[in-house]
Amino acid sequence: MERAASVDATGLAHWIDPNGIVHVVFDRPGEKVNLLSEAVLEELSELIDSVASREDVRGVVFASGKRGNFIAGMDVETIASVTDAFKAAEGARFGQTVFQKIADLPVPSAAMIGGVCLGGGTELVLACTVRVASDAPSVRIGLPETQLGIIPGFGGTQRLPHLVGLVGSLDLILTGKQLDAKRAYRAGLVDLVCPEEYLERETLKLLHKAATGFKRRRPLIARLVESVPPLRHLVLARARKTAAAKASPESYPAPFRALEAVDAAFALPLPQGLDLEARIVGELVPTRTSKNLIWLFKSQNALKKDPGGFVTLPRKVRRAAVLGAGIMGGGISQLVADKGIPVRLKDIRPDALLTAMRQASKIWKQQVERKRLSPRQMRQKLGFLAPTLDDSGLSRVDIVIEAVVENLEVKQKVLAQIEERVSERAIFASNTSTLPISDIAARAVRPERVVGMHFFNPVHRMPLVEVIAGAASSPEAVSTVHAFAIELGKIPVVVRDAPGFLVNRILMLYFNEALRLLGEGVAIEDADAAMTGFGMPMGPFALLDEIGLDTGQHAAAVLEGAFGKRIGSGAPAMAAVVSSGRLGKKNGKGFYLYKNGERTRPDPAIRKLVGAPAPLQLPVETLQERMVLAMVNEAAVCLEDGIVREPREVDVAMVFGTGFPPFRGGLLRYADAVGPAVLVDRLARLADAQGERFRPAGLLRDLVREERRFYVA
Ligand code: NAD
Repeated sequence: MERAASVDATGLAHWIDPNGIVHVVFDRPGEKVNLLSEAVLEELSELIDSVASREDVRGVVFASGKRGNFIAGMDVETIASVTDAFKAAEGARFGQTVFQKIADLPVPSAAMIGGVCLGGGTELVLACTVRVASDAPSVRIGLPETQLGIIPGFGGTQRLPHLVGLVGSLDLILTGKQLDAKRAYRAGLVDLVCPEEYLERETLKLLHKAATGFKRRRPLIARLVESVPPLRHLVLARARKTAAAKASPESYPAPFRALEAVDAAFALPLPQGLDLEARIVGELVPTRTSKNLIWLFKSQNALKKDPGGFVTLPRKVRRAAVLGAGIMGGGISQLVADKGIPVRLKDIRPDALLTAMRQASKIWKQQVERKRLSPRQMRQKLGFLAPTLDDSGLSRVDIVIEAVVENLEVKQKVLAQIEERVSERAIFASNTSTLPISDIAARAVRPERVVGMHFFNPVHRMPLVEVIAGAASSPEAVSTVHAFAIELGKIPVVVRDAPGFLVNRILMLYFNEALRLLGEGVAIEDADAAMTGFGMPMGPFALLDEIGLDTGQHAAAVLEGAFGKRIGSGAPAMAAVVSSGRLGKKNGKGFYLYKNGERTRPDPAIRKLVGAPAPLQLPVETLQERMVLAMVNEAAVCLEDGIVREPREVDVAMVFGTGFPPFRGGLLRYADAVGPAVLVDRLARLADAQGERFRPAGLLRDLVREERRFYVA
């Protein structure tokens, strides 16, 4: 076998086997994943040129030297650094040219996909004649570019539609979803799925077949729809409507531009389609939306590697227990079992356990219906979840996640009982949303094992987990909970111990301001519309209804006790609503009215209840300013107080814990975009008009004095 003379810095290697098949292997030195860069593409380009001119070559196979990873895409640092449309388009054209060389090879080519294959990696395999994937769980194939505010730029928008059809390609490109091997096969994205150990053998077999004319044909009806412009435009219009229901083209232009590119895949010859794709990439790469989305992507990855400065090796969690089978405990135990970790779910009420088990089954059943899970896998997962009314089995767990009622005494009592039953090394992680961890651990025998692990509701959807280090928490306990959150698929942000931690504290200022506006006569729907207009997934009143008004009131009381009127000045309005029996969505009446669990319209009785004067209409900008600046100011105070160490922790937490608009990059990226001087000026004016709660935080004033921003020196 003739091996490449050398494997260079990019880790690209190749050799030719006795059958004349060139094996091209990506293996970035010293890294766990392969990424594409300009250097890798240049080398690949030269390699393809040399292969194309050889008479003895009969086929080319592209593979990866990394277990569980094919190519994870283009290095985002490269995209993040480009601010010029022309340069961005040129970058896309270069990638297109290299992949076109693969498509134009005089011999067939095959991709051997044994792991993660995303973005540019997927575009490379699209240029091959055939694709084979192993059935390993690590295989995920997709084009996530629109999630980063751009579109696939190395031919993906032109080749994918012809391979998987118009509808299939829109489904992949507009959502950025990642398919496992089976789903990729069903979609037509790969031609064969085989066990991991046969991947090379099966790829070579299919390559041989490809040489003799193997081709998967798509249904005639699909091809007809695509080739008749009015029919195609009908499908595209429907997709545009779905995209518009999720986000506006002004905030998130990428999906809308992707539709244009996909249309061109059928309307234009390939070179022109590729040219349009590159031009669109050029226009999108420099946008603020794309820069913010890429920055968030990088930041969340960075925070996964950073257990808040607690640098000790985490312990592996092999068995877990969850105490309290309510909304949160039920959700958390489902998540743990979903990851294949045995979990005991304990409650003192059988009905709570029953509801939790039903809810868990419902989530898995939905996945079975969507063919994401087989019935057998669902049974396996259910088998990991063991409901119990007693403490049996607790002696062997590595972690106990406590999610009982939000009451300090109850939590302390539960902790004391648990400490007697678990091993000395077991961690006690409280899901409290407001109570300081150090208070919960105050009477603990082993306070160093007590940490906060604050999930957000609904657990299976919300990506954030606040990991709270109490005064006595050991570095090992903190780093174990941080690592466990990642294993559960969440984004952890380590925060310092204080009432409300980070997210709920900031959020409370937002609710407070909304309640003040309500008391002044602003309509519920106006306040909510102002914030959805800003980009929040729902307005403050709809969100309060979701959380539960009694829960919100309780949290506000804890925070008011700690921080005074700044946090709780909206309390009288809230108290009036709660004491009228309105608890929000859970009992079908809150700030809104509900029918069959669905929000219908604002409750007209609220105005009188909170003693609002005559209806007051304020400009949308004023409403947004008051509610958003209240949060910005509190975030600055949190940084001053050392609740988190850096602005990016605030931003990642707010985006993934509250849905703060990702296209704005987070609360403090937004603040930077406005500029500290403008913010301080507006806050000072609001403080004069509205009260001291708006007095600009010291940190903000420092930024102005020192001519700095949160992020840029
Ligand atoms: P919940 O009232 O729905 O559930 C609490 C459960 O704990 C009940 O089923 C109750 O029977 C059970 N319980 C009470 N004492 C117990 C004991 N000694 N042992 C075992 N079980 C016991 O409450 P929830 O909304 O799930 O909240 C639980 C915790 O999570 C609270 O600390 C809350 O602040 C926090 N939290 C709630 C949310 C939310 O949105 N609901 C979000 C984040 C955190």
